[in-house]
Amino acid sequence: MAIVVYAESQNGEFKKNAFEALSYGKLISKNTNQDLVALTINAKDPSSLANYGPDKILSIIDSSLDQFTAQNYANIISQYSKDLNVTILVMSSSADSKYIAPLISVQLGAGLASNVVSEPLNYNPLKVKRSCFTNKAYNHTVMKSKINILCVSNNSFGVNESKSDPEIIKSNDFIKDDKIKVEAIDRLSGSVSIADADIVVSGGRGLKGPENWHLIEDLASTLGAATACSKPVSDMGWRPHSEHVGQTGKPVASNLYIAIGVSGAIQHLAGINASKVKVVINNDSEAPFFKAADYGIVGDAFDVVPKLIEKLKAFKGRQ
Ligand SMILES: Cc1cc2nc3c(=O)[nH]c(=O)nc-3n(C[C@H](O)[C@H](O)[C@H](O)COP(=O)(O)OP(=O)(O)OC[C@H]3O[C@@H](n4cnc5c(N)ncnc54)[C@H](O)[C@@H]3O)c2cc1C
Repeated sequence: MAIVVYAESQNGEFKKNAFEALSYGKLISKNTNQDLVALTINAKDPSSLANYGPDKILSIIDSSLDQFTAQNYANIISQYSKDLNVTILVMSSSADSKYIAPLISVQLGAGLASNVVSEPLNYNPLKVKRSCFTNKAYNHTVMKSKINILCVSNNSFGVNESKSDPEIIKSNDFIKDDKIKVEAIDRLSGSVSIADADIVVSGGRGLKGPENWHLIEDLASTLGAATACSKPVSDMGWRPHSEHVGQTGKPVASNLYIAIGVSGAIQHLAGINASKVKVVINNDSEAPFFKAADYGIVGDAFDVVPKLIEKLKAFKGRQ
């Protein structure tokens, strides 16, 4: 019996959420006294996962998997998990897992809990805490299936190092499914992706126009952050739709979310509630966002943001 963790990668590089999922799996394997197996697909350096304590790393390498397709990835993860006699499969609550986890759940006859935000509350039966209603509430889910899949929310558990000396097994012994072929993918390049970012700097209509977005971009690049925006900003074409966050846009679960000139409408807050620390810069002290903020600056973005950038650059220069 084994705990299996699917460690996600993109272009062969592990995402941070892979280390978090593996840290989570390590805790479960310790508490249930089962082996921990990390499963990777086309990862360039699977051995780097040894920092997070797996007993085994199963590295699947095959050029047919260079492009992600939900059906192929789900088939493979199911097949290897079954061979490993999996009891709990841990994944990240990511865009990819939203496609593949339900397919794996059907293939393995497994229970599935997405948006898991803490270590299991109980093991027999398995009970987990999940966020729901766009992070406004939690539910405690009891899972009674023989196999269960847990998808862990970004930045909810954290990354814990625990060095091991795992056996690394390379394999491409799986049933290939060539029904789906991805011909091309256009990716945004040179920017930090919102889903994986630790820090997100977001701008709203208060920025007045796209010509002022250098303020958001400068602050983001000083902090190594991703840039985001409110819905009207992307609807007006000031920013691409890939940056729109909120109920109808992307969800954000960053450690720090800085909102500049964003009013804080419920549809916007619905997408960013899971962020840990929220900082709001707005010239209207009555803006609803201040009620949801951990820190707030009442002031004109065009005065505050350049000063903030200057101070941060000076601070970084001193480090
Ligand atoms: C079904 C539905 C789904 C929706 N989904 C989403 C969604 O997913 N995401 C989303 O964002 N919205 C969504 N909306 C829209 C949402 O209701 C709000 O209209 C929108 O979030 C407002 O965007 P904003 O805060 O950028 O603009 P505004 O509401 O116009 O707010 C601009 C803010 O900037 C401040 N400001 C102005 N000048 C300055 C300055 N110089 N310095 C500092 N601050 C300044 C103002 O005080 C104000 O608070 C949805 C709406 C509906 C009906």
